[in-house]
Amino acid sequence: MKHYCPYCNSVEKYRVEKRIIEEYKGIKVDVEEKVTFCEKCGNEIIVNNIEDDNLVRLYARYRELQGTVSSEDIVKLREKYNLSQRELTGILGWGKMTINRYENGSLPTKSHSDYLIDLIKDEKRLLEKAKMAYEKKQITEKTFDKLVKNEKKDTDLRGYLEKELVREPNIYNGYKQFDIDKVENLISYIASKVDNLYLTSLNKYLWFIDMVSFQRRAVGITGLTYMKEQFGPVIVGAKYEELSKLEDKYKREDSEKNDGGLISKIKSKGNFDLSDFTENEMEIVDEVIELLKDKSVKEISDLSHKELGWKKTERFKRISFEFAEEMVINERKNF
Ligand SMILES: [Zn+2]
Repeated sequence: MKHYCPYCNSVEKYRVEKRIIEEYKGIKVDVEEKVTFCEKCGNEIIVNNIEDDNLVRLYARYRELQGTVSSEDIVKLREKYNLSQRELTGILGWGKMTINRYENGSLPTKSHSDYLIDLIKDEKRLLEKAKMAYEKKQITEKTFDKLVKNEKKDTDLRGYLEKELVREPNIYNGYKQFDIDKVENLISYIASKVDNLYLTSLNKYLWFIDMVSFQRRAVGITGLTYMKEQFGPVIVGAKYEELSKLEDKYKREDSEKNDGGLISKIKSKGNFDLSDFTENEMEIVDEVIELLKDKSVKEISDLSHKELGWKKTERFKRISFEFAEEMVINERKNF
């Protein structure tokens, strides 16, 4: 391989040696780097793409050790609020290209990184910051509105869902009180494991998870209540509509079918937190996902129709968890 050597002032062959960078910015990193030497004069020369690779590895290691914000984290934050790089820069009041550079792999300064990490942990601060930026005319009204609307929509939806779905534990919610955070994290998790998670199938994933849980432990997982609909069990009062519109942990994507109807998919944002789930619960969740994930919408619907809970309940009526006793989904091997 050849490269220009500034000492020889000509293009010369070079050789590559490996070296360890022990320390970077006062932190012990121990990262391997590739160093290039001119074969003719023996001086160390810089070969751009090799040097770039070295820096990528070094920065990645440094970030890992330092807890520095990653470019993916910044992109996720922006996408959640539908902000452009410019808009986020405006809110933060930083140099024009700062976010652009960080997303392209430049290493954020310690203070910028700490700031972003705090924002991601406590996103209410983003709205406060945007308010200030708007007053200082760093961002437009349109940008500010995006954040306000997002905040309002989410708070309204949550309040509404809790009012509608929180009930004393009874046989229709698996003797479990509805927990919106848990359900959100669960949906995000399921969506991360299932390639094409349709909203109609999501209802059945949740139902099976709760029913299997009730069968084994006499208590559900989500605290949701389900009713019988034409194609299978769904969350009572069609509250899956509102649930699917929460935007912290997943995103709903609608597309039009040939007949003009809507088909909705749920895409995980990958930021689910499973710390509220016990080992037992996760075992059940994973088992149901494993059973259903390669099945079509129709196949999943058909499976739900084999269950007594669906058969014995009248249309639009709530499905009792007492039918969990007779669940067949997890008893047959080949379906
Ligand atoms: Zn040379």
